[in-house]
Amino acid sequence: MFARLARALFGSANDRALKRYQARVPAINAWEEKLAPLSDEALRGRTEEFRARLAQGATLDDLLEEAFATVREAAKRVLGLRHFDVQMIGGMVLHEGKIAEMKTGEGKTLVATLPVYLNALAGKGVHVVTVNDYLAKRDAEWMGEVYGFLGLSTGVIVHGLTDDQRRAAYACDITYGTNNEFGFDYLRDNMKYRLEDMVQRPFAYAIVDEVDSILVDEARTPLIISGPTDDTSDLYRRVDAVMAEFVKDPERFEKDEKQRTVAMTEKGGEDIERMLREAGVLTEGDLYDPVNVSLVHHVNQSLRAHVLFKRDVEYVVRNDKIVIIDEFTGRMMEGRRYSDGLHQALEAKEHVTVQPENQTLASITFQNYFRLYPKLAGMTGTAATEADEFMEIYKLEVVEIPTNVPVRRVDQDDEVYRTAAEKYEAVIKLIGECQARGQPCLVGTTSIEKSELISSLLKRRGIAHNVLNARYHEQEAGIIAQAGRPGAVTIATNMAGRGTDIKLGGNAEMLARAEAGADEGPAYEAALARHKAEVEANKAKVMEAGGLFVIGTERHESRRIDNQLRGRSGRQGDPGASRFFLSLEDDLMRIFGSDRMGGMLQKLGLKEGEAIVHPWINKALEKAQKKVEARNFDTRKNLLKYDDVMNDQRREVYSQRRAFMEADDLSETIAEMRRETIGAMVDRAIPENAYPEQWDLAGLERRVKEVLGLDLPIAAYAQEEGIDEVQVRERIEAAADAAAAAKAANIGPEFMRMVEKSVLLQVFDQVWKEHLLQLDHLRQGIGLRAYGQRDPLNEYKREAFALFNNMLEELRERVTSLLLRVEFAADAPPPPPEPVRVMDMRHPSPEEAASAFEPAPAGGGYGLAVAPARTATEVDPNDPATWHRTPRNAPCPCGSGKKYKHCHGKG
Ligand code: ADP
Ligand code: MG
Repeated sequence: MFARLARALFGSANDRALKRYQARVPAINAWEEKLAPLSDEALRGRTEEFRARLAQGATLDDLLEEAFATVREAAKRVLGLRHFDVQMIGGMVLHEGKIAEMKTGEGKTLVATLPVYLNALAGKGVHVVTVNDYLAKRDAEWMGEVYGFLGLSTGVIVHGLTDDQRRAAYACDITYGTNNEFGFDYLRDNMKYRLEDMVQRPFAYAIVDEVDSILVDEARTPLIISGPTDDTSDLYRRVDAVMAEFVKDPERFEKDEKQRTVAMTEKGGEDIERMLREAGVLTEGDLYDPVNVSLVHHVNQSLRAHVLFKRDVEYVVRNDKIVIIDEFTGRMMEGRRYSDGLHQALEAKEHVTVQPENQTLASITFQNYFRLYPKLAGMTGTAATEADEFMEIYKLEVVEIPTNVPVRRVDQDDEVYRTAAEKYEAVIKLIGECQARGQPCLVGTTSIEKSELISSLLKRRGIAHNVLNARYHEQEAGIIAQAGRPGAVTIATNMAGRGTDIKLGGNAEMLARAEAGADEGPAYEAALARHKAEVEANKAKVMEAGGLFVIGTERHESRRIDNQLRGRSGRQGDPGASRFFLSLEDDLMRIFGSDRMGGMLQKLGLKEGEAIVHPWINKALEKAQKKVEARNFDTRKNLLKYDDVMNDQRREVYSQRRAFMEADDLSETIAEMRRETIGAMVDRAIPENAYPEQWDLAGLERRVKEVLGLDLPIAAYAQEEGIDEVQVRERIEAAADAAAAAKAANIGPEFMRMVEKSVLLQVFDQVWKEHLLQLDHLRQGIGLRAYGQRDPLNEYKREAFALFNNMLEELRERVTSLLLRVEFAADAPPPPPEPVRVMDMRHPSPEEAASAFEPAPAGGGYGLAVAPARTATEVDPNDPATWHRTPRNAPCPCGSGKKYKHCHGKG
């Protein structure tokens, strides 16, 4: 109430912001007179002058008006485009690190040049993020002319570049690229072993185009680099043996058919713990202690495999393999695998070979990647409906910027039908009418399947059309650019062709380029002239017929996506129309339309084959959409809290790792790790306030031999009068320090420094990788453990923290151990590189994935082989001296089937 009153009196916050920006526009425009007479040379000279002024203490903001005017003048000369005043406002919004909402077709590509140029003057690099490679290339080439004219360099990062090419592109003043490429480069950089191998510079400023799609729709899509796990097939089999017994008693678990979930009952929880212990699978602590997260994960997946999955229903067994059956088509899906260890659990259940699992080596969500930039800005046609989310999660304010000329598109009320079939009938009818009068139409669908359905209906009626499905960006840009020709019918899913302009009458430049096979030269010029004339004539026809008609075939969960579709029509003041067709069978109506809607429709009297059109319905739908949007936002917010835990740990690890890489001499760090490792071993053997006869000195002696490779008569220390814990520790430390010094002297201190660094980084990566797997398991298991009134998020945080500390302890111990055993093996064969692949979760194509990642040099990149006791080929699995390399949670190499830490690795 008050807010509305305040708005009436003082205008909205958005209006006030606009006024403030508007106030600066005259000053920018005033520069035009002074800049226009300058020669190209003199105009370019401004860049140096701006830089000089920055060096003397001017701020970027001081330069804004002059710099924006300079860019406008340059764009006029090289592109023949003069930035509109509203585009100047957009530029200011972006410069301030906010989101500029500017409608489709308002020229956001050109807007970006203003803040990009201004911020690039600072020399720290500016990243412009697009949704696909095609747009990155297009915008970099197009706008790169302006930057180049002003003396700035532009790079573009696309799929398939080498590291050298990437490094060169990142070194440019301005770098265009997709969110995927930027994110993967970040992850890959943090797996490198030398600073000079990295490709990115420190982040400064990014502008994200189509920011809603990247920071809302895809926010939680993780970029993942994955590789095979250490073999845990044995654990699957051993857990399976227990589970086969366990499920015989139905009182031990409860299954929910609808949700396809299964949970243990209280009795089940007790029984499984006991059974695992009896089988020797659970050997340490309670089942739900942090050390057992991986075991719990195996148990959960095994339970699901036994209770929820039936042979010959969900899967079949063929040729020693589990093959999934598609639940809709009943077809066998050769090669597809369930994720997260479920497939392995099924393999164990059916006694076929358990295939190795893939694990995450590094991952980051877009959300967290973009939060790494000190200054972030975004632009899109549709952000206002998600303004709260941008503010709350990214601290990004949304400013709605008015269009350059008023929108003339007419957004018609929705038409609601009883069934989907009736709805499609009406859609096809309207398409036919449009085509008959020469009006182009764009038909939006929510999925590729639905696009194909409409396509088949159109074919049956002999209506010519094009179908886009957001797969081949470049080709699709070519098609959608012509979607405004008279009578054109284009069917597209939401993302298809995004970022490409639909010009009424068609796109003469693209037609000419397609015909001439180039975008310059006499052939091109001739074709262009011809197509221009033709496009002009067509444009008049299309305007006459009402402009582009956007036809929605369903309402999306989010209003923003619907607005995006509508916005493709009516650009730059063109005529146009939009209408959505709905049916009571649509997902949104079924799930969220609720009884009120049903009642309302009854009142209005909905009959077969007839539509209902009423403003009420639009209101009710909007309400339903708002409800869903709020729910989705909550889900994202909640998941973010889980992400944050790993995110904090990753930042810590990456910055620590970087510090290690930058250091010349890590010997102090290494010595500290050695002392802490010894301290931990001694603490374990000599508990606080324990009597000497309770000390486990024999165990300590064994551990000292295993970890440090030292033969010390520790067990005999107990005989000495008055010896205490401190003395024991000091003696071990002294012996270890002496051994380390001897090693260094033998190898040479300089080499030793390199070996230390190499070992530290490699072991760090190894323990971090193991830790990521454990976090995955912890997270998947946490939902199932929410009994006892404990908050799962808090539990997760607490345990993740404990696991992180375990990881650090593991790191110190392994580094200490390796370095005390390092030998100079000049001709040792380098260890085989680990197969690693990049997986973009949305397009998991293995070939594409494989080409995107060159494995990190497993040998450490120093040309030095670290030979722990022996080289890999000579390892005798029965020789305990080689076992210190086994991860503590891996099966013991002696073949006992126990975990290493419970067998020969026991402390
Ligand atoms: P958006 O990303 O906002 O949807 P684009 O950047 O794709 O829009 O630009 C749409 C069209 O508008 C392009 O054809 C571009 O050439 C044109 N355009 C942009 N700015 C101007 C301008 N100041 N004057 C004339 N045309 C412009
Ligand atoms: Mg755009």
